Amino acid sequence: MKKILITGGAGYIASHTNLELLKGDFELVLIDNFCNSCAESIKRIEELSGRTVKFHQINLMDTQALDAVFTLEPDIDSVIHFAALKAVGESVEIPLAYYTNNITGSLNLYQAMKNHGVRKIVFSSSATVYGDPVTIPVTENAPVQATNPYGQTKAMMEQILIDTAHAENWDIAILRYFNPVGAHESGRIGEDPSYPNNLLPFVSQVAAGIREKVVIFGDDWDTPDGTGVRDYIHVVDLAKAHVKSIEKLASSKGVHIYNIGTGRGYSVLEMVKAFEDACGHSIAYQVGPRRSGDIAEVTGDTNKAEAELGWTAELGLKHMVDSAWKWQSMNPNGYKKISTS
Ligand code: UDP
Repeated sequence: MKKILITGGAGYIASHTNLELLKGDFELVLIDNFCNSCAESIKRIEELSGRTVKFHQINLMDTQALDAVFTLEPDIDSVIHFAALKAVGESVEIPLAYYTNNITGSLNLYQAMKNHGVRKIVFSSSATVYGDPVTIPVTENAPVQATNPYGQTKAMMEQILIDTAHAENWDIAILRYFNPVGAHESGRIGEDPSYPNNLLPFVSQVAAGIREKVVIFGDDWDTPDGTGVRDYIHVVDLAKAHVKSIEKLASSKGVHIYNIGTGRGYSVLEMVKAFEDACGHSIAYQVGPRRSGDIAEVTGDTNKAEAELGWTAELGLKHMVDSAWKWQSMNPNGYKKISTS
C-alpha cells in the first residue's frame, strides 16, 4: 500500500481527494494547521470511507515538526501539497503573509522531502498563474503572468518545484485548477469558508438566507451577458485528477503540468440561475462595480490531462450546484454543527 503525505489535508479539495484515494490502495498521512479547516472534516472522511487516516497538526513553518513527520513515516511514497493561503483579495492586502506562508512553507516541505529522499509530488496550482490569458481556452504553455500576490506565490511555488525536480531528479505533477465548486454526494464533505470569497459559496449562503444578496462584480464585461465567465469544475472530478496524477508519477518521470477544468465556461448570471434551480427559489442579486484584478473570461484547454492522465471531467453544472446546495442545506454552519441526517 502506497503511503501519501497530504499537506493541508483537512481542507476543501484535500478532503475530497482523500476520499477518492481511500477507495484505492493508499495509506494517508495528513498534516494541517487548521488555519482554514477543522478536524471535523477528517472525522467525516474516516466515517465515509470506513478507513482510518493518520493526522499531525503541524504548521509548515515548523521545520522540526515537519521533519519529525517524515522521520515517523519513513516510507512516504509521494506528497500532495495543498496547504496554502488562497484568498486573492486578502493576498493583495497582506502580501507578506502570503509570500511567507506559501513560499516558506513550500520551501520547508521541499527541503524535508529532499532530506528524507521523497521524490514525487503533486502540486496544487491554479489557473490564476495565467493572469489574463490572450487566448482561451488557455493551454499549459501559455505564459505564466499572475496578476495578484496569491497567483504569484503559486507561480513561484511551481518554479521552485520545477527547478528542484530538474536538479534532484524528482517526478512532479503540477495541477492548475480552474474554479473548483460543489461537494461530495453525501453532503457530509464540502467547502466551509470562514467568509466566502468565491462566487458559489456566497450564492449558497444567500440561497440559505445567511446573506442578503449576491453582488455581481460588473455586467459590462466583454462576455455574452456582460458578467464574468469561468471554467467551473466539480471538486470530485478535481479530486480524481489527483489520484490519476499519483498513478502517473508511478510510471512517468520528470515534470508534468496539467490544466484541470472542463473547458466549458459559465457566466455569473448562469451560475446564479442554475443555483436557483437547485434550491427551488429565487436568489437576490444586484450588479455592483467590477472587482479589482478580475478578468472577463477564462476557460482551460484540458486535452493534455485527457491524453496523458486519462482524466476528464464527468460532472456537469447540475451536479455542481445540486451538491453545493445539499452540502449547504445539511450543514448550515459548515463543520461547526454536526449534521443530523
Ligand atoms: N463574482 C461575483 N460576485 C461574488 C464573487 C465572485 O460576481 O461575490 C464573480 C467574479 O467576478 C468572477 C466569478 O464570479 O467573474 C468567479 O469568481 P471567484 O472569486 O469565485 O473565482 P475567480 O475566478 O475570481 O478566482
